[in-house]
Amino acid sequence: MDRQPSRTSIYHDLLDAFAQEGCPVCRLALGNVRGYLVSISREGGLTDLEIRTRLRESHAFCAGHAHQWLESQHLLGTAILYEDLLDHLTGELKALRYRKRGFLAGAAPLLGGGRKVDALEPHRSCPACEVLTRAEERGIDVFLEHLREDGFREEYAQSGGVCLPHCQTALAAAPDEPTFRTLIEVAIARNEALVTHLREIIRLHDYRYNREPSGDERGADARAVCHVVGEPGLRGLGRDP
Ligand SMILES: [Zn+2]
Ligand SMILES: [Zn+2]
Repeated sequence: MDRQPSRTSIYHDLLDAFAQEGCPVCRLALGNVRGYLVSISREGGLTDLEIRTRLRESHAFCAGHAHQWLESQHLLGTAILYEDLLDHLTGELKALRYRKRGFLAGAAPLLGGGRKVDALEPHRSCPACEVLTRAEERGIDVFLEHLREDGFREEYAQSGGVCLPHCQTALAAAPDEPTFRTLIEVAIARNEALVTHLREIIRLHDYRYNREPSGDERGADARAVCHVVGEPGLRGLGRDP
């Protein structure tokens, strides 16, 4: 159900994203996740035995993606998916047998010291997290490939740049020094612009002014947070840090 966009379409999506607020790689990757969740819900995905089995193995989605799925308010799809999953977990629960904790010496403690009950843990990673990771990797790959072209690089330099997590990934994979330098310069420019706006918010908050932000600084608090950790939905979705 996860159809990979072509490199050409990623290239154009990145160019379009340069003109918009937020990290272009985050935008691309999160759009892929939304598309994946829609494809599961709309295209008979849940009647496909292979997909149902895959989703059962991962207990559907991680906490973050499960709640994103729930927000789509796909009542029938959620009922089909979780009826299947809970039925399966009931079987796992019935098969569990009590064992003294001493028998599990050396097992990793769960939530600070209980038994490790593997049967209730997902056996595979969240498929939406996998879509996200693949889209990020392909997005960074295409981004770096074209960053060596003058036109693309100039468009990028005019944008707000990638978030710092994606900047870090791109720097580690930069194919040459000019690309590396471009990434650094755009990141510094973004940091400095955000700091200017945040200082203005602090200044306006002073008792002598006591004014709400109304200029370019408005929204800089959210922009700064997103720049440091990525757009909402990028991290904290059950993936390893
Ligand atoms: Zn990003
Ligand atoms: Zn996930």
